[in-house]
Amino acid sequence: MSDYKLLIGGALVDGDMTMDVVNPAQGKPFTTIARASENQAEQAVQAAKAAFPGWAATPIEERQAAVKAMAAAIGEHADDLARLLTQEQGKPLADAQGELAWTQGYLGHYATMSLQDRVIQDDETGFVEMRRKPLGVVAGITAWNFPILIACWKLGPAVIAGNTVVLKPAPTTPVATLKMGEIIKDIFPAGVVNIITDQNDLGPYLTSHHDVAKVGFTGSTGTGKKIMQSSADTLKRLTLELGGNDPAIVLDDVNVEKAAQNIFGGAFMNNGQVCMAIKRAYVHESIYEAMCEALAKLAEAAIVDDGLKQGTQIGPIQNAMQFEKVKAFVDHAKAEGKVVAGGEILERAGYFIRPTIVRDVTDGDELVDQEQFGPVLPVIKFDDIEDVIDRANNSPYGLGGSVWSADEDKAIDIAGRIESGTVWVNQHVAISPVAPMAGAKQSGVGVEQDQEGLNEYSQIQLVNVARSNHMGA
Ligand code: NAD
Repeated sequence: MSDYKLLIGGALVDGDMTMDVVNPAQGKPFTTIARASENQAEQAVQAAKAAFPGWAATPIEERQAAVKAMAAAIGEHADDLARLLTQEQGKPLADAQGELAWTQGYLGHYATMSLQDRVIQDDETGFVEMRRKPLGVVAGITAWNFPILIACWKLGPAVIAGNTVVLKPAPTTPVATLKMGEIIKDIFPAGVVNIITDQNDLGPYLTSHHDVAKVGFTGSTGTGKKIMQSSADTLKRLTLELGGNDPAIVLDDVNVEKAAQNIFGGAFMNNGQVCMAIKRAYVHESIYEAMCEALAKLAEAAIVDDGLKQGTQIGPIQNAMQFEKVKAFVDHAKAEGKVVAGGEILERAGYFIRPTIVRDVTDGDELVDQEQFGPVLPVIKFDDIEDVIDRANNSPYGLGGSVWSADEDKAIDIAGRIESGTVWVNQHVAISPVAPMAGAKQSGVGVEQDQEGLNEYSQIQLVNVARSNHMGA
């Protein structure tokens, strides 16, 4: 028996298998849920395919109303969903509530949007209109850091554009997503939204499937490359939101205490498990000591505990594999004597590492060059602005970045030279439904959010009419 069921063709169904889901604060399973077989993945794709013509023909106002109703339903069930998110993901309950509030905000915005047709020519010689049409079945494949928010970043625009969806959450965080399926089951016609789970085995099935027209993916760059390969045969449309190694460049004129607080927040939000977290802090040499000290103080003061406990600021790392990866970075830094705060593995069940500040590292060190995706921040010294821009850009990633300075014009000028899809000034991870998010270089393909993001869930159709004074009429 499973506690949470799949959503296929409008019905909540048991999986052909079950799977346990671990609470990372305890390091042991807290629930057993439905796990889909390949046969059930096929049923989900076929249900979505069957629902597509009807949903595509549904007036936009009705599609918008459904997305609005979904936002409201998530709000009504926010307490249950937040608790599940904390149990499976580890984030503090207040942050889980925050994720749901964000999700409602994004869905509310999608509910005001529509694909826009455009008349290109309308005169005596002809009529040319560019229309946007839905694509068909969209596979939404998501990561474990913001399970509900990221799922809705696929689902919302996909259904507004008139597509139908098969969602597949990450194997370590499927519970809240299944609960969401239970909540929205009757909001959409049967088959418009389907939710299946796996143990990392059904992704390729979806991304190579002939009846799937598009993949909306959030996850690692490595998996993104595999998806590109497996979807090549059917030339699927792809939106890939991938990994990042965001630099923060901190100039010598900042207020150190204030900047440290914001940089700490940008690096350790969601325990550092944010695609757009600050993953490398480049600090001018004249304020380097003061910045390391200020960051260390903040790291030492952070309350690390089970996310369900009131007052917790940082929860566990989400899963055992990620815990081992971050631990290896921390152990290496400790062995080199470069840890100025944190680094302790908590002696208790679960995957807890205290927020860790590492100094005197530089480009070429693994912790600087790779995406750590966890609670450990390297602080790197620089003295020359041209040099630090080169170092910031010397990465295969290009997701986000930030420049910190009291001189806004100077910061904006430097920001323009950072090779990433988003660059912030005096802030980091400031996202919104009206801010298109696009990864540069190996951080992604395509755009999410706003009209540009919505358009990615559509196909252009040009209707080109010759008028009577032309040949052929
Ligand atoms: P992951 O790539 O391991 O898994 C993501 C999803 O892909 C999961 O649902 C997984 O089951 C599925 N998957 C695994 N192998 C697959 C395959 N061969 N074909 C199709 N699907 C497959 O990533 P993760 O560890 O869950 O997430 C962490 C990564 O995600 C980090 O690199 C992070 O930066 C990135 N991320 C990016 C964004 C963004 O918007 N750019 C947001 C959040 C996370």
